[in-house]
Amino acid sequence: MEVAAGTKLVYEFSEGSRDMRELLGGKGANVAEMTRVLGAERVPAGFTITTEACVAYMKGDRRFPEGLDEQIAAELDRLEEQAGKRLGDPEEPLLVSVRSGARESMPGMLDTILDLGLNDRSVEGLARATGNERFAWDSYRRFVQMFGDVCKGISGERYEEAIAERKKGAGVKLDVELGVDDLKGLTDDFKRLYRGETGEDFPQDPKDQLGAAIRAVFDSWLGERAVHYRRLNRIPDEWGTAVNVQQMVFGNKGDDSCSGVAFSRDEITGEPTPSGDFLPNAQGEDVVSGVRTPNDLSELQDSMPEAYEQLIEIQRTLERHYKDMQDTEFTVEEGRLYMLQTRSAKRPAQAAVRFAVDAVEEGLVTREEALGTIDPGALHALLHPTFAPDADFEVLARGVAASPGAGKGEIVFTAEQAVQAGEQGRDVVLVRPFTEADDVAGFHSARGILTSEGGKASHAALVARGMGKPCVAGASALDIDLEAKELRVDGTVLHEGDRIAIDGTAGVVTVDDVPLEEPGVSDEFHTVLQWADELRKLGVRANADTPGDASKAREFGAEGIGLCRTEHMFMAADRQPKMRAMIMSEDEESRRAALDELLPLQQQDFEGLFEEMRGLPVTIRLLDPPLHEFLPNAEEVAKDLERARMERGEDEEELERLLERVHALSEQNPMLGTRGCRVGVLHPEIYEMQVRAMLRAAATVRERTGESPHLEVMIPLVAYERELEVMRDLVERVAAEESAEELELSLGTMIELPRACFVANRIARVADFFSFGTNDLTQTALGFSRDDIGGDFLNRYMDAKIVDRSPFDTIDRPGVGWLVRLAAWTAREEKPDLALGICGEHGGDPDSIGFFHLAGLDYVSCSPYRVPIARVAAAQAAIGEE
Ligand code: ADP
Ligand code: MG
Ligand code: MG
Repeated sequence: MEVAAGTKLVYEFSEGSRDMRELLGGKGANVAEMTRVLGAERVPAGFTITTEACVAYMKGDRRFPEGLDEQIAAELDRLEEQAGKRLGDPEEPLLVSVRSGARESMPGMLDTILDLGLNDRSVEGLARATGNERFAWDSYRRFVQMFGDVCKGISGERYEEAIAERKKGAGVKLDVELGVDDLKGLTDDFKRLYRGETGEDFPQDPKDQLGAAIRAVFDSWLGERAVHYRRLNRIPDEWGTAVNVQQMVFGNKGDDSCSGVAFSRDEITGEPTPSGDFLPNAQGEDVVSGVRTPNDLSELQDSMPEAYEQLIEIQRTLERHYKDMQDTEFTVEEGRLYMLQTRSAKRPAQAAVRFAVDAVEEGLVTREEALGTIDPGALHALLHPTFAPDADFEVLARGVAASPGAGKGEIVFTAEQAVQAGEQGRDVVLVRPFTEADDVAGFHSARGILTSEGGKASHAALVARGMGKPCVAGASALDIDLEAKELRVDGTVLHEGDRIAIDGTAGVVTVDDVPLEEPGVSDEFHTVLQWADELRKLGVRANADTPGDASKAREFGAEGIGLCRTEHMFMAADRQPKMRAMIMSEDEESRRAALDELLPLQQQDFEGLFEEMRGLPVTIRLLDPPLHEFLPNAEEVAKDLERARMERGEDEEELERLLERVHALSEQNPMLGTRGCRVGVLHPEIYEMQVRAMLRAAATVRERTGESPHLEVMIPLVAYERELEVMRDLVERVAAEESAEELELSLGTMIELPRACFVANRIARVADFFSFGTNDLTQTALGFSRDDIGGDFLNRYMDAKIVDRSPFDTIDRPGVGWLVRLAAWTAREEKPDLALGICGEHGGDPDSIGFFHLAGLDYVSCSPYRVPIARVAAAQAAIGEE
């Protein structure tokens, strides 16, 4: 047991505040904050058991730490006194909820139990005290179910079966239509189920119930779905969850009661109209579980106008207080409104952007604060395709527009299939009646998610929005038969593997092959990006190899091309044969002849790029991969050769030569082989051709436009300063031959080997710029092969807590990052005006961008679609430093 004697492990709500989320969890800290801001009469009283207690419990072999029992008992006494009721009192019992709540919200991943304190006697007391027998039994059956589910892991399906059975017996369709006797019977069914599954009677002592519930909430932190969720969301396992014990208020007391969720603004579009869902005569879990289809919040205005007005006013107060869009949970008990939770609303990118712009206009926040509310990583969803607006298609079904964007692919009915298909590179849409935590893995692999049940607040909708995946929820016309693997609608039957398309922006489903359209940058997004540009210090360029990519990059605000990979230009169908001929040449003369054929093609490529990027720098990297990448693999050639021999084909000799060459060029470790500038040193004529093509393209474009392109020639994989000297000589010689000395040309190098980082000052003497190639630098610094590290290996490493994410996704700051800092520092000592950039995958990763800002680089370069993300992330880094 880890906590020091005398540590305070339990806090009354009135003692907490929003700054205490590490200790009290997000829910506990914000319930405490709400109690302060809105007053104690709006928030049911209670107390929070700290995350520290949970951590001690986990480390102490699932035993409560010293003093926890006593502190809980003392707080419970206080609560009982305040409420004027006692837990388990047979006349007028106090009921509580036992709610999980981690530092960061993990929706639906951790457990919560409602109506705790009921037993066979107190249920009668509750019925008498409230004069509402139906309500009392409805609460009891809920409690027995939740307790069995959460504390004993009894499958929810078993309960649903019992409910279905009762409903059938009573001839009704909805839970709310069940009468007192049905509910009593149902409670018995549930208790029998409990006994059958556990071999024990349902616990009658409320103190036992409470202890078991608190343990179960602690345990849920270690549950499989919670672990999986944390992995995906990079939440540390060490945090633990707090537990909130709170007096119950009741949304299931009749038609003047309800439970619901409400957002201070539309949670999907961000428009300044409150939105949400509620269910009359229900408790909170009904709203999210999808057992009944909830009503839209706007209907609350008609049915309970006073509570509605109060709720809207409270939303405003909370927004002003938190300076952010809020996501709240509430209950109305016989007309009286209670607030049960508030937090900053998770929101899809379009809502995030809309809120930021509106909030600044309303004077709610500053630009800097507004930018801080945007998750840059999510912004790529704004660039997701939608159905082409003029597309002609037949609507198969409509549902809730639950997460924007469009997607199409083959139907799959399970998460496992989605994952499998994803691994095979197939596009799929995950189709389920509703989704649960176990399905989340499949979301990643799917192009979109389609459900027949649930609304905007359903699990599918929340998770899809979190990931930026398109989702149509609650398309109720669909009859999804998981067993038969069929989707039936209006006489149409679709099977697994049939193609389907969904538009989560409009909420429609179709089997037609609708063309998708790339969206532009909306006005609001444009505004946000402009703010970002004013605030950021890092430049943002794009990695682009073709004029098409370059034009996308420009449209998204790239300030130049930071990396153009020329090898892609040799892979095209019309060029590969020429490239092969060049590689197969036996002497320099025939190699030069082959290169002469490639030169004009390469020149055209560069002209296109220069025209597209007029006025902006273009960094072109000379050939990087080893030559054998342009030849077919040995096995293939050997097979062809065998066939040729049998058929006595005339290309036999040629194939023999090819095979020989393939063997001669093959390497055990191509990643560490004859690549990068090593190719240039060994075969200077290839680099000469490339440089010549660039210079000629620049001259042509200058003639055509009157403007000289900003050409930056980049040499890959330099380790020795002498390599760069040799390359500089080569470039200068070609420039002289082309009489291109007056063209604007700078020469730099990739820094992607540890040695280059160590001797950066020496290399700097010969370079005009550095661009960190952090993919290769990560490979060579860590000795991990990027192509092989994925999948199981990385998962095992994460399980063992050696890494918490792939070093190829986010830069390894202490290791690889240190090399970057070292190189930047020593190089600048040598040459203060040396330009420093980064062009690895990390250039589009918000976390890594924060690091590059701190390391003092001049710019990042990333794929065109990540340019807007990088602009916002760079601004956040600059703001964060002030
Ligand atoms: P989650 O983290 O899954 O949202 P919560 O602890 O917020 O779990 O509980 C879920 C729902 O249970 C709440 O939204 C609310 O409707 C209901 N609930 C929780 N505590 C209470 C309470 N004290 N009184 C009434 N309803 C409650
Ligand atoms: Mg909640
Ligand atoms: Mg490289």
